[in-house]
Amino acid sequence: MTFENLDLIEPILNALKTKGYTEPTPIQEQAIPIILAGRDILGCAQTGTGKTAAFSIPIIQRLVADRAINQGHRKVQALIVTPTRELAIQIGESIEDYGKNCNLKHAVIFGGVSQHSQVNSLKSGVDILVATPGRLLDLVNQGFVRLGDLKVFVLDEADRMLDMGFIHDVKRILRLIPEKRQSLFFSATMPDSIMHLAGSILTDPEKVSVTPISSTAETITQSLYYVDQEEKYELLTHILQDKSIRTALVFTRTKHGADKVVKMLAKKNITAEAIHGNKSQNARQRALSNFKDHSTRVLVATDIAARGIDIDELAFVVNFEVPNIAETYVHRIGRTGRAGAEGKAISFCDVDEWDYVKDIEKLISIKIPVVKDHPYPAQDSTPTGKNKPQPRNQNPNARKTHRGGTKSGDSTSTSSDRNSYGSSNRGSSTSHSSHGTAPKKKFSWDKKNVSSR
Ligand code: AMP
Repeated sequence: MTFENLDLIEPILNALKTKGYTEPTPIQEQAIPIILAGRDILGCAQTGTGKTAAFSIPIIQRLVADRAINQGHRKVQALIVTPTRELAIQIGESIEDYGKNCNLKHAVIFGGVSQHSQVNSLKSGVDILVATPGRLLDLVNQGFVRLGDLKVFVLDEADRMLDMGFIHDVKRILRLIPEKRQSLFFSATMPDSIMHLAGSILTDPEKVSVTPISSTAETITQSLYYVDQEEKYELLTHILQDKSIRTALVFTRTKHGADKVVKMLAKKNITAEAIHGNKSQNARQRALSNFKDHSTRVLVATDIAARGIDIDELAFVVNFEVPNIAETYVHRIGRTGRAGAEGKAISFCDVDEWDYVKDIEKLISIKIPVVKDHPYPAQDSTPTGKNKPQPRNQNPNARKTHRGGTKSGDSTSTSSDRNSYGSSNRGSSTSHSSHGTAPKKKFSWDKKNVSSR
């Protein structure tokens, strides 16, 4: 299958060539013809599957055809609503790329920054509007956005939207847009609440599903380090001594935790910046672009802030804390191994997080290989209760050595130590727990994982 087979117009095909895309991803292969045919879509797809292009490309094509007929002042004809600023910016960048030969105008609006430049671009007329819910409603109320001519409505990352408490905003937006429209609904998971919302938005949708939330790309090498909470900083520093790790995205559960990791890394002369909800939008953007151009080596993020971060060649993800929601693990490690690239995801697990690992392994149907051979093996096997754990077994990584007994070798750890995180289910330097090696799963973009029901 090629993009030519999808009946795309020449300006879009040329833009895709410039991007270096040779063939559509499964979600694109499935969704593009359906959207071009004017049908509604219920899409189950997470970020990393190419879903942004899957909806952006046919929207652009449709609006180009309409624009040829209706010249004059531009009106918002396509609205894409997405939960976070980062995602909105990224979708805007994608539209810019795919539509660069198409003479369409788009704007991206989100909160946390002055509305001035956003209002200016709206005033000059836009065809496609990408928005987060709050700022959209603000600017509608102020009369800067009119949605009466809308033809296509996209609700992106619907599950995250509900998680973030945007349900009422979404309902308000639905009351502002024409009933007769095409609606495209995307969510990484499809619990009942999401299906209910989808039912209130879509008309006779085609269902497209790719990479169920429970699957992790085969290109991502996963591994697990059992380590006590207070030793995680040392372990991270130890791992980052490997200069072949050019950049790393580190996840923490809290904003405070993110700041602490940044401070600790700074003390070790490792450049790091945090991105989370307490940072201003400008600070977040700055951190992101410093990370993208490699002037910052480590980006430390909380889950919500990291949602939608799309960094080319991101090869290394660290779960400094194991997420307490199993799906979050899949989202986090999905930041690497994108578009078929190789990626590594390592997780630090203390005694209070054992149960989270159990949930994750159940969800992904993989026993994550354990790296035993590292200088900070966990000593604690008594849960503190901070996460209400129900430990299932003894820490498989616990050693008899006294706390700190192996530490003297930290900074001069053996090469096998240093490499072990990177070869979790491949190399010989990794000791696997009784869990054994992760069974090979189909790479998530394999057509067999796509179903169009
Ligand atoms: P998304 O799921 O929309 O966040 O896209 C994930 C990544 O895949 C982005 O970096 C896109 O630029 C990239 N991508 C999207 N479509 C393709 C394609 N057909 N071939 C290669 N990369 C793609």
